[in-house]
Amino acid sequence: MALTQVRCPDCNGLNVVKYGKQPNGEQRYSCQDPRCERTIFLLNYRNQPAVASPSARTRIIELALDGADAMEISETLGLPEEEVIRVFQQLSRLTAPPVGVRSRNRRAATKIAAG
Ligand SMILES: [Zn+2]
Repeated sequence: MALTQVRCPDCNGLNVVKYGKQPNGEQRYSCQDPRCERTIFLLNYRNQPAVASPSARTRIIELALDGADAMEISETLGLPEEEVIRVFQQLSRLTAPPVGVRSRNRRAATKIAAG
């Protein structure tokens, strides 16, 4: 098996081989270290999310204020559209509470009252 430069996110070992693909085409890897509990993982591991650089975030905000939508901004800056949307979501989280939280609490309160 060809060596990869992928490190296991759990044991940080290089004893890693390719292990098929996700339905969305993402490469899966398998840690071959017998002491390691994590056998299968993805390269884009969630511990290291790809976040737009501060300057890119500034450009995203500027373009959004100019009325551009996420798709236009992603094309203009050459960023993935989902990355632009993620910046939008981070900004909205700073300025307003998440919409879902309040209704979920109300439903839980109703359940308690009914029971
Ligand atoms: Zn490992």
